[in-house]
Amino acid sequence: MTKERKREEPMHKTSLIAALLIGSAITTPALADGHLQIVEGDPLELTIQMNHARYPIYEEDWPVEQTARAWTNVHLIDATVGANMRTDENTGRTEALNLMLASGEIPDIVGSSRIRDFVNQYGPQGAFLPLNDLIAEHAPHLQAYLDERPEIAAAIQAADGNMYYIPYLPDGLYGRAYWIRTDWLDTLGLDMPETVEEFETVLRAFRTQDPNGNGIADEVPYFARQWPELIRLVTLWDGRSSGSDTYHDFYVDEGTMRHPYAGEGYRDGISNLARWYEEGLIDAEIFTRGSSSRDFLLSENLGGATHDWFASTSGYNRLSEEIPGFEFRAMAPPASVSGIRMEEHRRIPIKPDGWAISYTNEHPVETIQYFDFWFTEEGRRLANFGVEGLHYEMVDGEPIFTQEFLDQGPVNRSLYQAGAQLQSRGYFQDYAYEIQWSNEFALEGIALYDEGDYLIDQFLGVAFTAEEQDVYDRHWASIRDYMLERQQSWILGNGDIMEDWDDYLAQLDELGLQDVLDVMQSAYDRQYGN
Ligand code: CA
Repeated sequence: MTKERKREEPMHKTSLIAALLIGSAITTPALADGHLQIVEGDPLELTIQMNHARYPIYEEDWPVEQTARAWTNVHLIDATVGANMRTDENTGRTEALNLMLASGEIPDIVGSSRIRDFVNQYGPQGAFLPLNDLIAEHAPHLQAYLDERPEIAAAIQAADGNMYYIPYLPDGLYGRAYWIRTDWLDTLGLDMPETVEEFETVLRAFRTQDPNGNGIADEVPYFARQWPELIRLVTLWDGRSSGSDTYHDFYVDEGTMRHPYAGEGYRDGISNLARWYEEGLIDAEIFTRGSSSRDFLLSENLGGATHDWFASTSGYNRLSEEIPGFEFRAMAPPASVSGIRMEEHRRIPIKPDGWAISYTNEHPVETIQYFDFWFTEEGRRLANFGVEGLHYEMVDGEPIFTQEFLDQGPVNRSLYQAGAQLQSRGYFQDYAYEIQWSNEFALEGIALYDEGDYLIDQFLGVAFTAEEQDVYDRHWASIRDYMLERQQSWILGNGDIMEDWDDYLAQLDELGLQDVLDVMQSAYDRQYGN
């Protein structure tokens, strides 16, 4: 690192572009004194593969990238293979990464959603560099982060004890909540439901009592942008739908690894949800309507309740300008049949997304310094808030989004488009970025959930040995496919889960579920010192 020497050369072409894009930010002290500069002279160019559903390649003209270039003198050059191949968030399949590996041309840096299992498998085989010593010797900000959070350091490790990727590290506690049309409750003279029975009564009233007042039974009582948010409701019957913020994940039950879709609470929950579906309390198109569900059903004054993110969902209260009285508020998780109020979803402190250094990289020290840059104060701010002057201004020492930027539409989308908040980049999120566009309804809901203490511990994931991985790979995909196929069939009324349950469990056994649970358990015990 050149901490003392100033940049002596004229601006490069890319820096000129950066200057055009970011205006006065180019003259910030961070650049002027060069303390973030990693290499002298000509910029160091490093190739990168970056895959994420929302930004399928690394874009060199992102304002955030341009600023990072100007500050570090490291230029990432897009070399993404399989940019049109998306990582499937529901299954965790990473076709683009497999294609890249098969091509034999691995760029210097590989960033992707769901990269953890991939690097933990191929890192120990030599495709990616172990990062532990590089971090200890050259990445003081990253090292400081890991020293403060040993549980995160444990969760990053591969089975051989090395770290092969720098993760995206979310900040904040709360993610999703239950939301309900409180103006419809008022219209129908109903109280906020406190139990699963009361919730069912309310959904039925939404279905049958015309709360939108158009004389047609067109209301859709419960809907979700992601269909697994229907399965989430099994928690109301003491089932589980996932152990983490990844759908269909395993969970830890007092030190024992289990899968939610083999539990009796799940069985009872699916049985009841099939009944709700048949009765029209669930969106008939829940499995097919997709990501526009929330926007469409709320805008059309049709949707009654959902389970979705605080910040973005609270924003729909703006519809009160078009729909008189429209009010969509967070409600506490209804008490389950046994009286438990649980919010299964929360922000997980470490994601399987992030970036890694390939074995072909001839500049591992500079690369880990570049990774470390994103954990400096300036780099972290850049990753979270974008570019000063363009996206935010400093107010009393804090980055505050400009009104002009906030008015450009969904803030997350605007940030992705600028190259900020990229989950395929290893960085530590700053929740302050989100609180700024959380409206009063979101803040009220967060306070409600905070008061009730509904969150539960999460499974932070495991790294397999080659032998464990082999067992997992041999069985898991077919088990999961079978689970999801049966799950959807039961909801849609094909078969009765109560009658089919014993056969279902026998089939899971036949497919090797216990073998998979055994390797999950051995990996879990090794990783978290059980
Ligand atoms: Ca109606």
